[in-house]
Amino acid sequence: MTGQFFFTLLNPLFAFGFAAIFGLMWRRWPRQTYLVPLTCAFLCSGLSFVGQDFLVPWHEQTGRLLANAMFLASIALVCSSALQRVGIAAPVRLFAAICLVGALPFLWYLYVDPALVPRIVVVAAIVAVLALVTFALMLAARPATLVTRALAICVFLGFVAAVARPVLVLAGLLDVNAAGDFQDSDYWATVQAFSPILTLVIALVFLLAVAVDIFNQLRSDANHDYLTGLLNRRGFETAAAASLANTALGRHPALLLADIDDFKKINDGFGHKVGDDAITGVARVLAEQGQAAVTARIGGEEFALFFPHATRRQLQERVEAIQFGLSDASIPGLPVSYTPTLSIGVHSAESHETLAEMMTRADKALYRAKRDGKNRAVFTPLPPHSYTTPIRAARA
Ligand code: GH3
Ligand code: MG
Ligand code: MG
Repeated sequence: MTGQFFFTLLNPLFAFGFAAIFGLMWRRWPRQTYLVPLTCAFLCSGLSFVGQDFLVPWHEQTGRLLANAMFLASIALVCSSALQRVGIAAPVRLFAAICLVGALPFLWYLYVDPALVPRIVVVAAIVAVLALVTFALMLAARPATLVTRALAICVFLGFVAAVARPVLVLAGLLDVNAAGDFQDSDYWATVQAFSPILTLVIALVFLLAVAVDIFNQLRSDANHDYLTGLLNRRGFETAAAASLANTALGRHPALLLADIDDFKKINDGFGHKVGDDAITGVARVLAEQGQAAVTARIGGEEFALFFPHATRRQLQERVEAIQFGLSDASIPGLPVSYTPTLSIGVHSAESHETLAEMMTRADKALYRAKRDGKNRAVFTPLPPHSYTTPIRAARA
């Protein structure tokens, strides 16, 4: 096997191998949607090498057309994937327009006035523009993490490589063997030699990005409730404790605990699925009407809302908004006349209280709300000093 043939096989194998890896990763982690264009990009890249190495000797012009079309598709897709990862929708029309504008001179130099060097320049120019647009969009999104910056640098290096090769050709430093077989040229040899490295670098940076994203997804999943999308107890404690730690002296953090009344009756009377819908409906009302800094489902039909600072009047208003929102909510599967109600315990604290202390006090108030007949809110008693008294002064 000659060295040339080794590279001929290596490139498509690398590309198809990474397409398979990223495709499988997408099946396992479907929320990482940018893996779809990435998988397609590696597929196109593999097809491009197959076209160039195996189709061109058989049917030259069609082979070159397909190989270059696949190559440009792979570049556009990898750019789209990098953008999609940072939450930017790929500018599909712009990418298509760039490729179409470039296709005209390419077709001219392929079919009308066959010439290799102008074709190389045209394809390189398309790649350079695609990379530059992608790089500019990524920069505009202000890449915050190391891995996003690494991806942006890769895109920029793609731009540099796209510009460098035709410059070397035009300067006469890289022979394209225009008179003979392009496959035997120095140019194609460098493409074949550098492509596996480039493919590997791009794939590794993306693999790193996927690993980081999956780790963040797992961490987020561990803190969120699957049914309602709210934070779960663990997420609530982390977020509320962090918010409490930043609460300045003199502020009044508050905690609201809410428990659906007679929830078992909903489950028993209408089924578990309707029970789930009732939990989701109540969660939505609490999130929308509570306007808390942290809203969570901390148990089966129990919720917690944390406010870094709220006066009693503001808390009372939130309670009324929640109760009104509930009376207005329609839960699929429940009769219109059946409105779930909440028992609520509210504790407005001093800023030196810990979250655990606040939870205990709010829970006591909730217990009293249940004991006093449900469908009501109970506030913990006012502390000995007035709420309007700054704590710093009160302590002095
Ligand atoms: P109370 O008014 O005293 O709060 O009575 P309750 O029936 O609401 O409370 P209880 O604690 O007796 O029952 C809560 C029920 O919630 C028991 C459990 O089966 C149900 N539950 C917990 N998590 C879920 C869930 O995710 N979906 C559904 N459908 N039911 C759940
Ligand atoms: Mg209950
Ligand atoms: Mg309960």
